[in-house]
Amino acid sequence: MSRLKLIALTALALLAPWSVEAQTPKPAAQAIATGVWLIPGGIAPRRQPDGNTVIFAAPKGLVVMDTGRHAWQRQAILDFATARGRPIAAIVNSHWHLDHVSGNPDLKRAYPAARVYASSAIDEALAGFLAKGAESGRAYLKAGDLPKETLEDIAGDIAAVEAGAALRPDVVIARSQTRSLGGLRLAVNLAPDAATAGDVWLYDPASRVAAAGDLVTLPAPFLDTACPDGWREALDQVWATPFTILIPGHGAPMTRARFGLYRQAFAALIDCAASTETKEACAAAWTRTVQPLLEPGLVELKRAQGMTEYYVADVLRAHEGNSASCRAA
Ligand SMILES: [Zn+2]
Repeated sequence: MSRLKLIALTALALLAPWSVEAQTPKPAAQAIATGVWLIPGGIAPRRQPDGNTVIFAAPKGLVVMDTGRHAWQRQAILDFATARGRPIAAIVNSHWHLDHVSGNPDLKRAYPAARVYASSAIDEALAGFLAKGAESGRAYLKAGDLPKETLEDIAGDIAAVEAGAALRPDVVIARSQTRSLGGLRLAVNLAPDAATAGDVWLYDPASRVAAAGDLVTLPAPFLDTACPDGWREALDQVWATPFTILIPGHGAPMTRARFGLYRQAFAALIDCAASTETKEACAAAWTRTVQPLLEPGLVELKRAQGMTEYYVADVLRAHEGNSASCRAA
C-alpha cells in the first residue's frame, strides 16, 4: 500500500455508496469471443481494486492473464478452470501491480506446471515501490483508524510483498514476439516505461482480441508508476494492431472506436498536464471525452474527475511530468 494509492483509495471511499453493506464479490466469467473470457475485476466499497482477468482457451489448457488481488478473484479463476475441466497452462502478468499478480502463487499451487510470463520490472518494484508501500501499510495497520475492509486489504498487500519472490515471473518477457503459450500462438508485446517500467499486452490473431492490461484503465489512467511518453507510444502500438475487441485492465471491453476515444483523451490529458491549465480543467476535459466509456451515473463521473485531478497535480506535476517511479530519460 503506497501513500499515493491510499490517497486515491480514500477519495474513492468517500465517493462510494456507504449505505450499501459490503458483500463478498463473486466475479463471474463472461464470454467475449470464441475461446476468450473475461472475469471482471472491480472496486468493492472500502476495498482496493482487482484488475480484470482475461482467459484464452489453448490446445493444452487455459492461458490466464492477470490473477487479481483478492481471494475471490483467484477463486473465480480456479472455479472457471474446474468447470471447464481444463488446466491452467500458462499465466501472463500485464504488470506487477498487486491487483494483477497477487493470485499467482495460489494458481501455481493448483497447477504446478503453469509458468508465469511477465517483464522483469517487478524486481525493482519489490525493492522500491512495493517495499515502501508495505512500510507505510504497517503504519496504517498500527494506527488502525481505517475501515475494517481497508485494513484487511492493507494486511493482504503486506503479506503479498513479504512473499514477493513468489510473484516473480518464471519466464521474463524482454521483447515483443509471437509465442506459443499452452500451444496457442499469441503476440506477446512488451511496452517499456509505460504504466510501469515493463508492461505486457497480448493480441490473439484468431479472436482479434487485445488484452491491454493497465495501458487502458477507467475511470482514469492509473498513473502512479507511469512514464506518460512511453505509455502514449504503447497506445499507438495497440491502435496499429487489427483488434476488434480490447479488454482493458480495469473496465468493460471496448470496440476500436471506443479505444480510439480513450487514446485521444490520454494524449490530450498528458499535454494538458504539461501546460498551464488548472488540474480541474485537465480533469474536466478528460472526463468529458471518456464519458461514453464510463459506467453511467454521477458517482463514476466524480471518481473520474477526482482521480484525474490527483494524478495531474500530485503524480505528474509533482515530478516534472513523470511519476516518481519513472526511470526513462
Ligand atoms: Zn490495475
